[in-house]
Amino acid sequence: MKMKSAVSIVLSLTIASLCCEARAQTAPAVEAAYASILAHPKVIKTLEDIKADDDRALAEQKRITEIPAPPYKEQARAAYYLKRFQELGFKDAAIDAEGNVIALRKGSGGRPKLVVSAHLDTVFPEGTDVTVKEKDGVILAPGIGDDSRGLAALLSLIQAMNANELKTVGDVLFVGTVGEEELGNLRGVKALFRDHADIDGFISIDGLGITRIVNQATGSHRYEMIFRGPGGHSFQEFGLPSAIHAMGRAIAKISELQPPKQPKTTFTVGTVVGGTSVNAIAAEARMAVDMRSDSTEELLKLEARLLDLVKDAVREENARWNSDKMTVEIKLIGDRPAGIVARDSPIVLATQRAVAVVTRAPRVTFAGSSTDSNWAMSRGIPAVTIGGGGEGGNWHSRNE
Ligand SMILES: [Zn+2]
Repeated sequence: MKMKSAVSIVLSLTIASLCCEARAQTAPAVEAAYASILAHPKVIKTLEDIKADDDRALAEQKRITEIPAPPYKEQARAAYYLKRFQELGFKDAAIDAEGNVIALRKGSGGRPKLVVSAHLDTVFPEGTDVTVKEKDGVILAPGIGDDSRGLAALLSLIQAMNANELKTVGDVLFVGTVGEEELGNLRGVKALFRDHADIDGFISIDGLGITRIVNQATGSHRYEMIFRGPGGHSFQEFGLPSAIHAMGRAIAKISELQPPKQPKTTFTVGTVVGGTSVNAIAAEARMAVDMRSDSTEELLKLEARLLDLVKDAVREENARWNSDKMTVEIKLIGDRPAGIVARDSPIVLATQRAVAVVTRAPRVTFAGSSTDSNWAMSRGIPAVTIGGGGEGGNWHSRNE
């Protein structure tokens, strides 16, 4: 990532508009709320402080990056994050049963309760070198942007809000979540909503660029499919069904699927493994299948069709050899629901307005993505995912 425009100002403005005023229902109401918020001396000072905190926030971002946080092994980073929450004044901050780090900042009225979160986990397995390197003004490290930036921006925001005694009406729950990345299946945010039934809004800071607002949750279902048959010698036992042939039939059928372009709906057989040797009828073959859609309905339609095709393929392989020995085990390994938050909803308008203030340009891009916000959006709770500032790329690679 590049050291540039490292600001979490967007975020504080969004929070301010959601919590310091009654919830705005229309664009003019959001405008009016912003006018009064932006004129408030404490808000002005908070925004200046966040800007001035840039170098320190970047140092924090590097420190966080160098604490490994592989899927399901976020404990060390969580412990550090808890310590930072406590140092920022949240004496009751704690790690919940799932591993999320949570701090409650009380408002004067309790509701609305807003979650502001960033995710602790990375996609990188244990043993990955997470040392931060710098080359020609570009900082390189696994997870430096996704989501060390979000975690650092969150701390910077808390620091500035607390230092300026910025009061909100609603409660704000600051959270470092676990399990956002692939294998985690949003386990952290799912637990958060299970344990806190009173969440009214959700903001996830995930990644960098601040002009992109994710108001749409791309849903995904992922499967591992394991084809099993009797196996045998390719010559002596010719006539038995083959796991690889059955899987090949399935893949041929899947590759002809025609999902809609809008709402965007996709599929792919991502990986295949199987067989024993070149001269053996395969006893086992496995494939991993990814399906995504911006619409839950289309995702479920595609899924039903695809699963039928896989079963057809097994039936055909059995029929071809007059056998009943070929089977397939279908395992759901990934489940993220889809959802959307309307562009004229208060949370999206407020975020858009905040971006305009910070970047001095009205332009934002709206995007669909798969983030912690999926879970909130799928439950009809106003949510957005925004960036923590800066520029970067090569997500999920060691050269991030
Ligand atoms: Zn992320």
